[in-house]
Amino acid sequence: MDDRINLDELRFECRGLDAQALLQKFAVLFPERVVLASSMAAEDQVLTDMVCRAAPQIEIFTLDTGRLPQETYDVIEETRRHYGIEIRVLFPDAAQIEQLTAQGPNLFRNGIEQRKQCCNVRKVQPLRRALANMDAWVCGLRREQSPTREQIDIVQWDRQFDLIKLSPLADWTTEQVWNYIRLHRVPYNALHDRGYSSISCAPCTRAIGAGEDLRAGRWWWEMPEHKECGLHFNEDSAMAEGAARG
Ligand code: SF4
Repeated sequence: MDDRINLDELRFECRGLDAQALLQKFAVLFPERVVLASSMAAEDQVLTDMVCRAAPQIEIFTLDTGRLPQETYDVIEETRRHYGIEIRVLFPDAAQIEQLTAQGPNLFRNGIEQRKQCCNVRKVQPLRRALANMDAWVCGLRREQSPTREQIDIVQWDRQFDLIKLSPLADWTTEQVWNYIRLHRVPYNALHDRGYSSISCAPCTRAIGAGEDLRAGRWWWEMPEHKECGLHFNEDSAMAEGAARG
């Protein structure tokens, strides 16, 4: 990253900017060196809409883990058509997948370590490739989503991938996300209408019931403090416990 960028100064300059203005600012500050990592979930669809409106210089990519639900592929297609954009799709390394699945196709059910191994190969390593040589990445994290995300700042230094992480929706509520989607007719994953609040790989995601935590449907067999897949590790968070988050 350009060492003239001072994170405190950047945070100060970003104070009071709304999500769309933040995206515009980053697109200007880091031309061709800021990317939007989209899981195609509701928050990321909001950000995609804003990028298409106000900051089209920002490249959008998604990770195909090989275990995604069909509805996620459908929304990738729909989003490409709706906005007339390319969405870059990154895949895991084939040799690593073969080595991983030698433990069985559902190794992630065998324990937290195996689950993190799977997330590392299918998500973290492809993300690392996508972020190489970037100055900043944008993601749809919100503080309200889970205990592991309560501490996030809108502008953070990402120590795991060594670049700035921008979370323009950090202080948005679920209601704000859905109001935006309805107002702007943003395409969204059909699973959201079937009770899925957070969507990842098919075998590790389920619908949630009334009153459940927003991320209760992810790796529901694990404790809440472990429910991250390694994309959003935060060493400053008391919840991190050295775990990789996503
Ligand atoms: S969410 Fe599940 S299937 Fe997907 S990478 Fe993580 S452990 Fe593997």
